Amino acid sequence: MSLDIVVVGAGLPGLLAAWRLAESGMKVAVFERGRIGSESSSLAAGHVPQDSMSRENLALLRRTREIIDELDRITGGVTRFNVVGGIQLATGQDGAEGLHNRAQLSEEVGGIGDILEPHEIARRFPQIYVEDLVAGYYTTDDGFVRSLDLTTVLGSMARAAGVDIGEGCLVERVCIDDGSVKGVIVGGELVKAPRVLVSAGAWSRPLLERSGVLLPTKSFVLQALMLVGVSLDIPFISEVEGDYYVMVRTPSTVLLGIPPRNFDIDPDRFSRDVQSEDQLHFLDLVTHRIPMLRAARPAGGWAGVLVATPDAWPLLGPFGPDGLFVATGLGGGGLQRLSGAEAVAQLIMGEMPFVDLVECAASRFKRYDGQAFEFREKPFYYAETSPMRLR
Ligand SMILES: Cc1cc2nc3c(=O)[nH]c(=O)nc-3n(C[C@H](O)[C@H](O)[C@H](O)COP(=O)(O)OP(=O)(O)OC[C@H]3O[C@@H](n4cnc5c(N)ncnc54)[C@H](O)[C@@H]3O)c2cc1C
Repeated sequence: MSLDIVVVGAGLPGLLAAWRLAESGMKVAVFERGRIGSESSSLAAGHVPQDSMSRENLALLRRTREIIDELDRITGGVTRFNVVGGIQLATGQDGAEGLHNRAQLSEEVGGIGDILEPHEIARRFPQIYVEDLVAGYYTTDDGFVRSLDLTTVLGSMARAAGVDIGEGCLVERVCIDDGSVKGVIVGGELVKAPRVLVSAGAWSRPLLERSGVLLPTKSFVLQALMLVGVSLDIPFISEVEGDYYVMVRTPSTVLLGIPPRNFDIDPDRFSRDVQSEDQLHFLDLVTHRIPMLRAARPAGGWAGVLVATPDAWPLLGPFGPDGLFVATGLGGGGLQRLSGAEAVAQLIMGEMPFVDLVECAASRFKRYDGQAFEFREKPFYYAETSPMRLR
C-alpha cells in the first residue's frame, strides 16, 4: 500500500490529525515508539479554558471544545467536557494589573471573563481564602476532560477511519532528499511517503535534528499531585504569584499542578515522580489558599515532559523541506490547543484551515539556526503568553 502521509507520534495532536486525514480519504500510517498516548497526552490535567487574549487562540480553544463534544456524542459520554469555570488569582499589585490587562485584551477578541474583587470571590467561592488577594479574573465556561479517555478515543477513531497505527515503532529519522520528504526510517527500512507530520512531542526536536532539520524548542517537566479525601466546590484555580494550579477532578479528588523548575531537560532522562521538595512547597501554598485542603491526603502523582518554543506558541504547519509538517511545541497546552492539529490536517489536505494560523505557524522560525535561546516570557504551561500583536 502506498502511503499519502506518515504521522510520527501517537499523542493527542498526531492522532487527531491522522483521523482527520484518513477521513478525507488519505492513506495514513502512524508510527509510535511506545503505545498510544504513552507520554504527556494521557498525563494531562485536561484543563481547557474558553477565554484568551488572542483571537486565534480563542478559536483554537473553542474548536477543541467542539471536537471533545463531537467525540462525546459519538462515544455516548466517554469524553465528557466538565464545565468548572476558572479563576486566576493575584496577591500583588503587579499581578492584579496583569489580570486587568488580560481582561481588557480578552474582551477585545470576544473573551468572556470578569475581574472579581476579593469580597466577590469570597461570596462566590467561600472555600477560597481571600484576605491576601488583590483581584481575580474569572471565566465561567472553562472545563476539563480526562486526557487518557480522550487519547484512547482518538486512537480508536483513527483506527476506525483506516489509519494504520504501529505501536512499538520508533522512527529513526525522516528521509529528506533534494529538498523534499521521501519517507521515514523505521527498523532500518525506508517507509515511503511524500509527506511526514512530526508530532513527537519533546522528541520532535531530536528526531528532526537527526534528519537535518533544526526545531526551536526546549523541554521541561510538569508535575501533577493528587489530593484525596476532601470535597470542594471550586473552579480551576491558578495563582499568578504562586504559579501552581489546582482543580477538582472527582467529588473527592483534587489535582495540584506543580510548575516546571528546570528547562532544557533531556526528554529521555527525567524523573516521572513528583519531587518531595516541590510537593511540600506547593502543598503549603495551596493549603494556604484553600484551607479545607489541609484535611486532604496526598495520593501520589506523576510527571510528564513538555516542549515549548521561544515565544511559547505552538509550531503548526509546514516546516523546512517540501512535505514536512509539524504539530508540536504545544507546552502545557497541547490538549486545549488540540484543534491546532486539525488545522494542520486541513492545510495538508489543501483546505483553508478553520483558523488563521499566523501566531502558531511553524514557518515563523524558518531561519532558526540551532542557537540556544531563552524564553521570551515564561513558557506556557497553564496561562498563555502575549499574543503576537503585543510582541
Ligand atoms: C502533568 C501534566 C499536565 C498537563 N495538563 C494539561 C492541561 O491541563 N491542559 C492542556 O492543554 N495540556 C496539558 N498538558 C500538556 C499536554 O499533555 C501536552 O501539551 C500534549 O500532550 C502534547 O502532546 P504531544 O503529542 O505533542 O506529545 P506526547 O503526548 O508526549 O506524544 C508524543 C508521542 O510521540 C512518540 N514519539 C516520540 N519520538 C518518537 C519517534 N522517534 N518515533 C515514534 N514515536 C515517537 C512518544 O512516544 C509519544 O507517545 C499537561 C501535561 C502534563 C505532563
